[in-house]
Amino acid sequence: MADNKDANIDHGPGPLVMKFGGTSVGSPEAIIQTINIIKKQRQEWKQLVVVVSAMSGITNLLISCANDAAADNREGYTNSISLIRKRHLETVNDLPYSAQSREKVNATIQEYLDRLHNYCVSIQTMGEVTHRGMDAITSLGERINVRLISELLLEQAIPNQPIDGDQLIVTDDTFQNARPLRELTIQKVNTLILPLLRDNVVPIITGFLSGTEEGVVTTLGRGGSDYTAAVLGDCLGAQEVWTWTDVDGVMTADPSVVADAKVISHLTFDEVSEMAYFGAKVLHPKTMRPLMEKDIPLWVKNTFNPSFAGTYISNETQKTTGVLTCVTIIRDVSLITVRGKGMLGVPGVAARTFSAVAKKNASVLMISQSSSEQSICFVILNHDEIKVIQSLKNELAFELSSGDVDAIKAISNVVIITAIGAGMCHTPGVSAKIFGALGKKNINVIAIAQGSSEYSISMVVAKEEADAAVQEIHTEVIINGTK
Ligand code: ADP
Ligand code: ASP
Ligand code: MG
Repeated sequence: MADNKDANIDHGPGPLVMKFGGTSVGSPEAIIQTINIIKKQRQEWKQLVVVVSAMSGITNLLISCANDAAADNREGYTNSISLIRKRHLETVNDLPYSAQSREKVNATIQEYLDRLHNYCVSIQTMGEVTHRGMDAITSLGERINVRLISELLLEQAIPNQPIDGDQLIVTDDTFQNARPLRELTIQKVNTLILPLLRDNVVPIITGFLSGTEEGVVTTLGRGGSDYTAAVLGDCLGAQEVWTWTDVDGVMTADPSVVADAKVISHLTFDEVSEMAYFGAKVLHPKTMRPLMEKDIPLWVKNTFNPSFAGTYISNETQKTTGVLTCVTIIRDVSLITVRGKGMLGVPGVAARTFSAVAKKNASVLMISQSSSEQSICFVILNHDEIKVIQSLKNELAFELSSGDVDAIKAISNVVIITAIGAGMCHTPGVSAKIFGALGKKNINVIAIAQGSSEYSISMVVAKEEADAAVQEIHTEVIINGTK
């Protein structure tokens, strides 16, 4: 494990890639912290690469602009554009720019907001926003922010170069959830980034956005700046990747839900992938993949508490203190049940059920089948519910009319709670403890599934009971379970 506390240590040949999330660059105070961290690490590492998100809340506002424009709501999008303008101008006003730089940055903000306005007018005329159009719009938050930060770093005599992700990370054309193409990205990295590093210039790169081979803007999915940092870490052969956020590291539960959640000092990539997949928002679920293959360690650190070590994530298995490491929530999901006595032993119903879901491009987050084979239950995102139910009714129309399938039902407003821990598979009785803890609080478990990795167990509970369920599993199994 690298000791990153000592100054001037030889970290080896590759660079350090640091990513700053939305809250780390979302206010003047946060930006000052970020600048100080960059200055400090520049002293300690021979080569530094910085990835920057949009200010917290800006991507949501950009999405509202696009949706309002598509809904012919001019007032809605002009209000959101004003909010975006105000937030950036006020932030710039409170930062120590020279008069000349402030003017330059303000002009840049205006330029991007003009572009946003033009996009909105086109969307309003068309009456719809495509995934491709949404990517063009949502990419603007990061584009503005790298320029704002780059200029401030120049004022502090840190030579740097702002770079847009669509010039650097080459992806397929799955808009809003694009897949990076590694070889093409390496070529871009070699031509654009390596010369800067050789000249001791810090690249300041937009997180989240990327581009197709033809240069069309794509994005890597919400929260995708973490993934940007990991992809660059891999393509650059980085020594380490650090993501800077607003909490002390990866914790035993979401600290905004569980007040006594604890920081986990060391985790494996597998464990964190499972946590992120099941809703621990602190890292984008795909972040770990490129890093684990190359064995590049990942640190999660707190911008507002930079002297705290944070969480170290690597391929090394750590000594766990308890059987459960973490409990997570995925909100806004629906449980779909396809049920019928005639399904018993009929081959192909499950396959057709899932192909009907796939046809609508909806992801299945969890599957649970009753042992009698008379029903199939699975969980999808709320916003896919209507189209998935319709698709299932079409696909199973014959079985519904013959009575072999007697119900296709959705329970909206549920959540998935997942208990995760590598120690789980070797320890009997963990499930009993989890369900015992929920039973004590009269929390009804609607469906259960065990993760294929055998170190997670997921439960569906009503939305109203979500926070209590997480709190109870955390107290009874994670905190008391390790005593
Ligand atoms: P950033 O903008 O820096 O990427 P995010 O908001 O995406 O930050 O992620 C950080 C947030 O993730 C924290 O503020 C916290 O509320 C939430 N979170 C959810 N689960 C966890 C967890 N297990 N550990 C730490 N943070 C978590
Ligand atoms: N700004 C993007 C989002 O809000 C990406 C990120 O913050 O990681 O989803
Ligand atoms: Mg994030």
